[in-house]
Amino acid sequence: MRSSSSSPFDTNRFSTVFRNLDATRFQEISSQTTGGDVERILDRGRTDSLEEFARLISPAAEAYLEPMCRLSQRVTQKHFGKTIRMFAPLYLSNECVNVCRYCGFSRHNDIPRITLSIDDVESEAALLADQGFRSILLVAGEHPKYVSNGYVESVIQRLAKRFPSIALELGPLEADGYQPLVDSGCEALIVYQETYDESTYRSLHTAGPKKHFHWRMDTAERAYEAGFRRLGIGALFGLHDWRQEAVSLAAHTQHLLRNCWKAQVALSMPRMRPAAGEFEQVEFLRDHHFVQLIAAFRIFAPHAGITLSTREPASLRDGLIPLGVTSMSAGSSTEPGGYSSFDETSFTPAGEQPGEQFHIADERPPAVVAEAIRSAGYDPVWKDFDQALFDHPTEELGSHPSKRFTELESKTVDRNPVSVK
Ligand code: SF4
Repeated sequence: MRSSSSSPFDTNRFSTVFRNLDATRFQEISSQTTGGDVERILDRGRTDSLEEFARLISPAAEAYLEPMCRLSQRVTQKHFGKTIRMFAPLYLSNECVNVCRYCGFSRHNDIPRITLSIDDVESEAALLADQGFRSILLVAGEHPKYVSNGYVESVIQRLAKRFPSIALELGPLEADGYQPLVDSGCEALIVYQETYDESTYRSLHTAGPKKHFHWRMDTAERAYEAGFRRLGIGALFGLHDWRQEAVSLAAHTQHLLRNCWKAQVALSMPRMRPAAGEFEQVEFLRDHHFVQLIAAFRIFAPHAGITLSTREPASLRDGLIPLGVTSMSAGSSTEPGGYSSFDETSFTPAGEQPGEQFHIADERPPAVVAEAIRSAGYDPVWKDFDQALFDHPTEELGSHPSKRFTELESKTVDRNPVSVK
């Protein structure tokens, strides 16, 4: 791992590639796509370029949703089998120095603020472990008070025995800031760009370190450099034109698959949900476009994980199980301490908990979600079997987790790929 200031990765960061991405050209390609263009891609069974991804999310491709979904299903089963990885978020803190206009934790929102003690985190985690989870996503707002004092490392070390797979969704750091987190046993880093449209980004992120659009964009690559072996990216749909966001997210996915090839890459397309601050979403992504998007991403990036969160309603989640998704959260609380202190009497008139980041749509318990997955003919996977490989590192394979993973992968038949959020 190198300090990010002297990194040879700098010249090839996605932010550099992104500056040359001509959004207007892709809009034109999408609007001019014909049914024949879509049929040719579906007959071939794959896309050969970002331009073809733009054709799959075009208005013309809407008429081909069914064959797109069939192809997406085939491709997913070929690369991931009939499995869905289960995970749960665990919120450590809702304290945040940023102003993000769409988020319940935004610093101007008047909500109860809390950062869990390490003992409280362990109590929350025990409840999740009792429900069967072995894969956990630690989430927190962005605040200096817990990034610099070893708090996150201590949390990871405390949870590592119980959870073979720990992912993080925190404020972005430099590569050398990530190193202790990797050394503590964390394997995955999730960071959403929120919106890839720079002027929209600037209007929504008006204070705090998150204002730095390009620095955020390169976070996944800094995390890779520090040794994370799974990377998750995404955009929050509802902030800007969904087709433009999708092309940028596809370009980012393609870039990571090519340049961070020792890591697994997963993507997510969360849609806006109600939250404190009552932000009005700008660009509503309809259900059938959401399905089109999942199928298009699967065809474009067959090896990338696709994650579906509890932001989506139960009926839609059940319908999407066989269509390209590889990972699902379940029974989620988006409030620090929300698993142990759930209190029905504290709901706001809008049906939200006052300290939550956003209100989830699929409120079913994890066991019910797992049963829905089984009913669709898929296996819910609670445990990350990859960890068993890491318990026996060899001198020959070295110490970088991604390196060990990739080389061991080539010696392992029929591995079940995993993804995060
Ligand atoms: S989106 Fe993240 S950084 Fe922004 S206010 Fe919410 S928790 Fe803080």
